[in-house]
Amino acid sequence: MDTWEQLKETQPRIVNLLVRTLEKDRLAHAYLFEGSKGTGKKKVALQLAKSYFCGERKATDPCMHCADCKRIEHGNHPDVHMIDPDGQSIKKHQVEHLQKEFSYRGMESAKKVYIVNHADLMTVGAANSILKFLEEPAAETLAILLTEQGSKVLPTIHSRSQHLTFAPLSREKFIENLIKNGNSSTISTLIASLTTSEDEATLLLEGDWIAQARTVVIQLVEEAYSRPSQVLFTLQEKWLPLFKERAQQETGLDMILLWMRDLMYTKVGKVDALTYVDQQSKLEQQALTSSQELLSRNMSAVLQAKRHLAANVNLQLLMEKLLLTIQEG
Ligand SMILES: [Zn+2]
Repeated sequence: MDTWEQLKETQPRIVNLLVRTLEKDRLAHAYLFEGSKGTGKKKVALQLAKSYFCGERKATDPCMHCADCKRIEHGNHPDVHMIDPDGQSIKKHQVEHLQKEFSYRGMESAKKVYIVNHADLMTVGAANSILKFLEEPAAETLAILLTEQGSKVLPTIHSRSQHLTFAPLSREKFIENLIKNGNSSTISTLIASLTTSEDEATLLLEGDWIAQARTVVIQLVEEAYSRPSQVLFTLQEKWLPLFKERAQQETGLDMILLWMRDLMYTKVGKVDALTYVDQQSKLEQQALTSSQELLSRNMSAVLQAKRHLAANVNLQLLMEKLLLTIQEG
């Protein structure tokens, strides 16, 4: 279990605000936590629920060992409810079911907390049921709505809740999480250069496509620079079979672009920013033979290829033209 102080490490602004509010005992009835996956929305929501219920709180920190704290931690507190989407949406009957449960149970206290995961998936009916709860004058209800996409949350919810935006994960933290999930540091660093979204990262990490793609990108760029006679063969034999779908082709071009950015970083000695962390000697060799002007021209060529890709041109022709441009230098 974390303390508020520990949570402050990843979300200082949000935690400071909530702690101050707890000190003044002036919590809002409803909060909308917006932030991408992995930014700690649920952790902060559970901590808030603990601070809300704990009878042995020290300042704003929950004690972590009373019955309330423990039950919230284990997900079986009778007055703390997590609502997750049932299929594609959160439906009215899910909320009504909870309301019924409350009335049967005779309630341990007047306090209740709802934590709604993916609040953007609430139907209008579900949202109205939650709002009805919040508006009951006697109820000490706290609703914490979590979403990755605040703009998709119904306006009625927006207008009645305090909207807090969670800061995105730092690049270091994102890489650290990927490594913790069992990915190598070279792949994790590459993924973190391609996306900051955990969902996109998960998609990219399916199977071992990304590892193969990385190897082919490195080979292709190296050949474009030093063995031009090989490059069209590699394109034909290795690139085209691997980058089949549009999204993969875009990622492939992004990976070439990242290689060029690495060459740029190598030239100016910014090696701690590299994407291809284990390719430093290759990068140094190539950086020697390419001027900054040439690199920026090549980067523009990749960006142009990306735009053409969106316009449905033939992939092979597009790649051949790009590689030719890089070779000509
Ligand atoms: Zn406690």
